[in-house]
Amino acid sequence: FLPQVVKSARVMKKAVAYLLPFLEAEKGEGRRQAKILMATVKGDVHDIGKNIVGVVLACNNYEIVDMGVMVPANKILERALEEDVDIIGLSGLITPSLDEMVHMAREMERAGFKIPLLIGGATTSRLHTAVKIDPHYSGPVVHVHDASRSVPVASSLMADENIYYQTIKKEYAKLREEYLEKKSVKKFISIQDAKANRFQVDWTEANIVRPSILGKQVIKDYPLELIRPYIDWVPFFSVWMLKGKYPDILSDEKVGEEATRVYQDANEMLDWIIAGKKLTANAVLGFYPAQAQNEGVDVFSDHEKTIKVERFEFLRQQNKKASNLPNFSLVDFVAPESANVDDYLGFFAVTVGVGLEDIISEFKKDHDDYKIIMAKALADRLAEAMTELMHEKTRKEYWGYAAAEGLNNEELIKEGYSGIRPAPGYPACPDHTEKRKLFKLLDVEKEIGISLTESCAMYPAASVSGYYFANPEARYFGLGKIEKDQLEDYASRKKMSKEDMERWLQQNLAYEI
Ligand code: SAH
Repeated sequence: FLPQVVKSARVMKKAVAYLLPFLEAEKGEGRRQAKILMATVKGDVHDIGKNIVGVVLACNNYEIVDMGVMVPANKILERALEEDVDIIGLSGLITPSLDEMVHMAREMERAGFKIPLLIGGATTSRLHTAVKIDPHYSGPVVHVHDASRSVPVASSLMADENIYYQTIKKEYAKLREEYLEKKSVKKFISIQDAKANRFQVDWTEANIVRPSILGKQVIKDYPLELIRPYIDWVPFFSVWMLKGKYPDILSDEKVGEEATRVYQDANEMLDWIIAGKKLTANAVLGFYPAQAQNEGVDVFSDHEKTIKVERFEFLRQQNKKASNLPNFSLVDFVAPESANVDDYLGFFAVTVGVGLEDIISEFKKDHDDYKIIMAKALADRLAEAMTELMHEKTRKEYWGYAAAEGLNNEELIKEGYSGIRPAPGYPACPDHTEKRKLFKLLDVEKEIGISLTESCAMYPAASVSGYYFANPEARYFGLGKIEKDQLEDYASRKKMSKEDMERWLQQNLAYEI
């Protein structure tokens, strides 16, 4: 079935135009298609996965009402009533969207809805759906792992409602039980003890390079043809549900043929985008003197570190470690005052989203869903590729701490370089709200036109932002779960209420709220 998705998406461009009259005729004869409303929740901007699901369902004769991205709960419910839909499907990519989905479930219950609620998107999971969403809605709630599951799930829901509803409700109740049992056996240490077990850089041995350019730099309209070779194709194939290593996937026995087709189509579209300058690649980078202080990093505009321009707060792993393993926090990779050395921290924001809306509306006129998905996927790929390229230029030139580095694209993708570029909202630093400071520091919205939604998603979607840590010992890690003592300390450091902070970090709490 998997490569079938690609086929059906490709057929779709013609299918939509050809099939519509037939679907109408069928309805006219009294046969009602199951109607599915789909929306990316408020505050979130990603919809490639949702578009794929829409195409797959449409190809299987479901009628899709797609409300697009950043859709508030009340608008979804109004439209669901208006259109008398049979199923609502919600999508979200970033963690704050999970909370919005819980809110949707509550609102559906309050409004007396009974229809099934489907949950999908990168950040969602069966466990979260079972533990956090399902209890708030008495109708069926089902997590859809990927587009290939959408048809079987939808058809079970439409076929024999009661049996499937009950099975799913029971399955999720069992998952909740198991989760609560497991949760209580995990061990955590106090934040005091975690701090004492920090990762220790030997600053007397550290050979810190001063960035060749300090302050902010804006890079506009960077040549797309120079970005193209930095594309990581693996995530591109997984958009089309084709799993495998690149370039081996192109000759894979099972999916090779389909992989080659989408790859060729992608490259044709890239040629067209580049030749016609259909997308614009912009970035803003900044390098600043910095000093770790307590659990945050102070950032200054001058070498003497007298003018503090911002302070970033970080979180520390709090799970009990095997002896000799530290409890990491990103602050451990920046020198504190006591180290008596000059250290720095870098920041970046990159977007290749400018121009995408125009491309999409062109393809929309032709009802060409395949090309719409392709363009969005390629814009995402180019944004990640430009991020990779800017990081390389940072290491070699702008900061220049690894001037002699010579890595090929494969080695870059495997993160074979020195230093890291963690992104706020991701495992080492899961608090999305730190992006607000980063955006203010670099004036990202004014300089290159990325804005933050109320959930701190970046709009346009084909955007990336993060920190540059140059220390050779810096590494990616996952924060994992934290306890109340750290949450409270973090909230007070950020001057936010404990409740707000708990909402933003819900996925990382070791305790129930
Ligand atoms: N080649 C991939 C790169 C993106 S995923 C692509 O084209 O899609 C890797 C990125 O996610 C990293 O560059 C970093 O910005 C972020 N990241 C990875 N692990 C992280 C972690 N543990 N904490 C924070 N950010 C992380």
